[in-house]
Amino acid sequence: MSTFPTSAKAVIIGGGIVGCSTAYHLAKMGWTDVVLLERKKLTSGTTFHAAGLVGQLRSNANITQLLGYSVDLYNKLEAETGQATGWKMNGGLRLACNEERWTEVKRQATTAHSFGLDMQLLTPSEAKELWPLMTTDDLVGAAYMPTDGQANPSDITLSLAKGARQAGATILEDTKVTQIELEDGVIKGVTTEKGFIECEKVILCGGQWTRTFAKTVGVNVPLAPMEHQYMVTEQIDGVTSDMPTLRDPDRLTYYKEEVGGLVMGGYEPNPIPWAVDGIPKGFHYTLLDSNFDHFEQLVELALGRVPALETAGIKQLVNGPESFTPDGNFIIGEAPELKNFFVGAGFNAYGIAAGGGAGMALAEWVAKG
Ligand SMILES: Cc1cc2nc3c(=O)[nH]c(=O)nc-3n(C[C@H](O)[C@H](O)[C@H](O)COP(=O)(O)OP(=O)(O)OC[C@H]3O[C@@H](n4cnc5c(N)ncnc54)[C@H](O)[C@@H]3O)c2cc1C
Repeated sequence: MSTFPTSAKAVIIGGGIVGCSTAYHLAKMGWTDVVLLERKKLTSGTTFHAAGLVGQLRSNANITQLLGYSVDLYNKLEAETGQATGWKMNGGLRLACNEERWTEVKRQATTAHSFGLDMQLLTPSEAKELWPLMTTDDLVGAAYMPTDGQANPSDITLSLAKGARQAGATILEDTKVTQIELEDGVIKGVTTEKGFIECEKVILCGGQWTRTFAKTVGVNVPLAPMEHQYMVTEQIDGVTSDMPTLRDPDRLTYYKEEVGGLVMGGYEPNPIPWAVDGIPKGFHYTLLDSNFDHFEQLVELALGRVPALETAGIKQLVNGPESFTPDGNFIIGEAPELKNFFVGAGFNAYGIAAGGGAGMALAEWVAKG
C-alpha cells in the first residue's frame, strides 16, 4: 500500500473534469509533485451526469480559443493514455431563427476564422441535409463547426486522470479536504480526513462545493448550483451516429445522438436554484428527482423543431445540479484575496467542453504566474 503524502508542491481539491485536467497539465509541465484529492470517487460530483456535448463557439473569443484547445486534446487523449474517452468529432450545428441571431452567428464566424477554426455558414436546406429530422421553416441560417463533437464525460475525465498519473501526479480518492491551513495569511497546507499535507499552492476545483469551501479562507467565489435537465429517448428512426450535435438557442434547447436515440436538454427561462441552504452531506453520484412539469416548456419548444419527439419513448429525464455564475463565464485563476490559492469552478453547463482548455490555463497560471 502506498503511503499518504506529507508534502506536495501543489494540492488540487476535486476530482471532476476540471481538477483532473489541471493535474494532467501540471504533471505534463513537469510538476510531478502534485496531489489531487477527491472526497469520494473521481467524477462523482457533477461530471458523471453531463450530457457530453463539446461545442467551441461562445460569444467570448478567449473562451472559444480555450474550447478549441479542449478539442485538440480530446482528439489525441485516448491514443495517449489508452483509456477510452467516447470522443466523437461529429461536428456541431448552431441555428439562427432571427436576424439578430444570424448577425451574432456571422460575427462568431469571423472570430472563429481568426483563430483558424473551420466554421461554415449554411442555408436552412444545407443544415437540414446534416440534420434531416429537424424542421427548418423558421430558420434564417445555421453555423456548422466540423470539429465540434461529443464525449463520455466520465471516461474523458478518467482518461485525463490516467494521463496525469502516467506523467507523475498522485491522485487520491475518498480523501476529503476538511481545512486549508494558513499561518499569518500564508498557505501552509491542507488538512484531510487522512492527515495533513504541507503545500505552498492550493487549487480548488470543487464544483458546486467551491463557494462554501473558499469562504472558509475568505475567498468569494460567486456561483450557485441550479437544477439542469435533459431527457434521453429510445431509438428514433432516422437518428444516425454521425449526426452533428445541434444547438437551437432561440428555442433554448440542445441535442445529441445517443445509442440511436436523442438526448435533448435546455435552459428554462425560470431555472430552479438547488441547495440554497447548503449541499446535503453524502451527495455523490446523486441525481435530483426528475421534474417533468418544469421540463415541459422545453419539450414544447423542442417538438416544434423535432416532430419525431412526439412519438419517441422516453428512457430517462436526468436532473443534476450544475454551478452557474452571474455572467455565464467560469471563474478561473488566483484568488485576489489569498496568494497561491487558485480556483477553477462555475462552468455553467459547459465544463466538459471547457475542461481541457480550462485545466491547461489553470496549470499555466499556477506554474508560470
Ligand atoms: C444535466 C447536466 C448536463 C450537462 N451537460 C453538459 C454538456 O453536454 N457539455 C458540457 O460541456 N457540460 C455539461 N454539463 C456541465 C458539466 O457537467 C460541468 O460543468 C462539469 O462537470 C463541472 O466539472 P467540475 O470539475 O467543475 O465539477 P465536479 O464534477 O462537481 O467536480 C468537483 C469535485 O470536487 C469534489 N470535492 C468538493 N469538495 C471537496 C473537498 N473538500 N475535498 C475533496 N474533494 C472535494 C467533489 O466531490 C467533486 O467530485 C452538464 C451538467 C449537468 C448538470
